[in-house]
Amino acid sequence: MAPSPQDPAAAAPRRKVSRHRGEGQWAAGHHTPLNGNEQFKKDDDGLNVRTRIETIYSKRGFDSIDPNDLRGRMRWWGLYTQRKPGIDGGKTAVLEPEELDDKYFMLRVRIDGGRLTTAQLRVIGEISQEFARGTADITDRQNIQLHWIRIEDVPEIWRRLEDVGLSTTEACGDTPRVILGSPVAGIAEDEIIDGTPAIEEIQRRVIGNKAFSNLPRKFKSAISGSPLLDVAHEINDIALVGVEHPEHGPGFDLWVGGGLSTNPKIGVRLGAWVPLDEVADVHEGVISIFRDYGYRRLRNRARLKFLVADWGPEKFRQVLEDEYLGRKLIDGPAPEQPVERWRDHVGVHRQRDGRFYVGFAPRVGRVDGATLAKIAGVAEEHGSGRVRTTTEQKMIVLDVEGDQVDSLVAGLEALDLRVTPSSFRRGTMACTGIEFCKLAIVETKARGSALIDELERRLPEFDEPITINLNGCPNACARIQVADIGLKGQLVVDEDGNQVEGYQVHLGGALGLEAGFGRKVRGLKVTSKELPDYVERVLRRFEAERADGERFAV
Ligand code: SF4
Repeated sequence: MAPSPQDPAAAAPRRKVSRHRGEGQWAAGHHTPLNGNEQFKKDDDGLNVRTRIETIYSKRGFDSIDPNDLRGRMRWWGLYTQRKPGIDGGKTAVLEPEELDDKYFMLRVRIDGGRLTTAQLRVIGEISQEFARGTADITDRQNIQLHWIRIEDVPEIWRRLEDVGLSTTEACGDTPRVILGSPVAGIAEDEIIDGTPAIEEIQRRVIGNKAFSNLPRKFKSAISGSPLLDVAHEINDIALVGVEHPEHGPGFDLWVGGGLSTNPKIGVRLGAWVPLDEVADVHEGVISIFRDYGYRRLRNRARLKFLVADWGPEKFRQVLEDEYLGRKLIDGPAPEQPVERWRDHVGVHRQRDGRFYVGFAPRVGRVDGATLAKIAGVAEEHGSGRVRTTTEQKMIVLDVEGDQVDSLVAGLEALDLRVTPSSFRRGTMACTGIEFCKLAIVETKARGSALIDELERRLPEFDEPITINLNGCPNACARIQVADIGLKGQLVVDEDGNQVEGYQVHLGGALGLEAGFGRKVRGLKVTSKELPDYVERVLRRFEAERADGERFAV
């Protein structure tokens, strides 16, 4: 089904060229690049930058990098220039990109399905200590990000990662990004179906394949057979979640067109049941629709969610079946509402083989290289050598014998990795923020960490599930729109009339089958200084006024 990698545009279904400007869809004959990003992608495939990094840029240094590679194609290999230190958030929108660029990179290591061995984790920890000034952040897409990377070191970092089966291929860019997967796939007692074979097949077919390396924008995938719906499936471009079909047994329910950022949309169900061995075909069909019919004229309309919103689920399913699969999909049921509100797998849980998995919470996903190496050590001593990252910036050690659990928990807690964290440690996430991100307006990681400390001190008895997500700008890397308390970084005016760091507040968002976006409380903005007071007030009021069993919502 995949077209020739040499010319994916030529493989799009042929249509008469529209006389209207249209949305820049290849399938409508719009092959002339309609913006700068489309132009540089047409000039040279993003994947080709690797050769230049290895043979030219790493040898001649940062200043030798072609600007179209620096701010464009390097993302195809997980590299993004980081923010020059000391530039405050007020300058983010007014400076030119090159004025914000530091000569160091963020490097994103993709971890499909969140699956890692302790050997792999140790290598990431070593790379962090040797090449990244010890930095390491676990992201809410199960990746690990390193900072302070010099272009000179990138080939050696790739060599070490690839020696243990890891990669940075298409970790950023207009590409098929990391495939989210249930971090307890294959081991959970309550699992409906293990999606791991499908994730592996998609990796083989799609990642690094030039048939899919020039998409209109990023393409996010999520596959989980857990009844906890633990991969934020509602906000991915494609998601497959476990369901039991009354006649055909366990399989996956297909969702498309979710996404946050501007114009956030919850994905829609196509009403189709997909057996495990057809997941990769369906994934390939959906990503092909995105490549061929996705909007390429305007970057801010280029995500799949806009096409899905315009077509609707019926037409999308029909095009998928008729033009890409060549067969009809089987109708299927919707997944059931999960009973648990926490989906992060934190704590001690029994596996189906009688052993245990142990999930733990760093602070807002921030760890460091030395800690990663220590986690690898403690996991090896107590488990089988398998660890996982989650979509909540947490981690899990698998395969722990019952008599090893207490010792493992003590080892993790000694590293300040909480197995029984407060609701605040457990439920707070933060994006990269102004420390490294060029789009950021405010600080997030340190602010989130300080907020956890303050709330633990002020509300020591609070034990309700609560999510508090901090973003450094209007984008949605930390999923603010689907948090109980979502905090969107921006400059606000304090009581003395000064512009200071602060947040626009969104309240009552959620994932799960009650998924919905938090309400932007009109005019409600808090300064960073006021933040602990504000959150404390909201939580105290919730505790005082809620009815039995009522979840946090507005
Ligand atoms: Fe950067 Fe904004 Fe994403 Fe945070 S939400 S990582 S500040 S782009």
